Amino acid sequence: MSAPCVLVFGGLDPSGSAGILADAEAIHALGARPLCVATALTVQTTRGVKRWEAVSVALVTESAHALLSEENVRAVKVGMIADGKVAEAIAKLLSPRRDLPVVIDPVLQASSGTLLFKGTLQQARDAYLSLASHALITPNLLEAAALLGLSRQPEDAVGLEQAARALVAKGVRAALVKGGHLAGEPVDVLAMGGVVEHFEAARIRGAARGTGCRLSSAIAAGLALERPIRESVVAARALVRDYLTQAAAWR
Ligand code: PLP
Repeated sequence: MSAPCVLVFGGLDPSGSAGILADAEAIHALGARPLCVATALTVQTTRGVKRWEAVSVALVTESAHALLSEENVRAVKVGMIADGKVAEAIAKLLSPRRDLPVVIDPVLQASSGTLLFKGTLQQARDAYLSLASHALITPNLLEAAALLGLSRQPEDAVGLEQAARALVAKGVRAALVKGGHLAGEPVDVLAMGGVVEHFEAARIRGAARGTGCRLSSAIAAGLALERPIRESVVAARALVRDYLTQAAAWR
């Protein structure tokens, strides 16, 4: 049997800054094998997204179905899903595979401002949350506010914790709300069942892209290797911190 695989749904960023190339790098680094289904093709450089087109739902479904049937898939990571129909297709594909741990990194817009979901905010919220009842979800501040319909983003660790608990109350299995964009020192908050944990570390200055893709994929790799969620989060944070340190050195 081949190495444990992570099946990834996400956008192709040909520059490798974000999307499925970044996902694959992180998954490989942690010792699992990436299987990547492109949900969208983007025109993109390291500077940012210029435009994108969705891949047909039929192609996404056929590709994922083939991989699920023939490869040793042990975990799933969902990044950019492009539109609600792809979320429905993924839910259908995964319904006979409730054994698979799922990590969802909701992708709503690029840091350059380009929207990365075709549809309204409400449709994006419904699409990502429809996949999350068995999943760990990893929103940043903006995404957490969007998923919860908050008019303001969380502004401190207390707000992050409230958002993480609120996502669990909405039926998400576990939520890791990322505070990298907080003013001051960053903190990520993990809520799971009734338990909440804060992960703190000194800020690494720099502007590397694709950190969210790498973090969620690295967590999925840990889960594919049958590590517990908390241990997978710790290892994934360490991987992203190394990536940020290397990126800062190249500036
Ligand atoms: N392109 C793809 C395919 C992505 O998945 C993402 C974010 O997850 C982006 C672009 C945006 O990356 P950034 O927020 O670093 O601009």
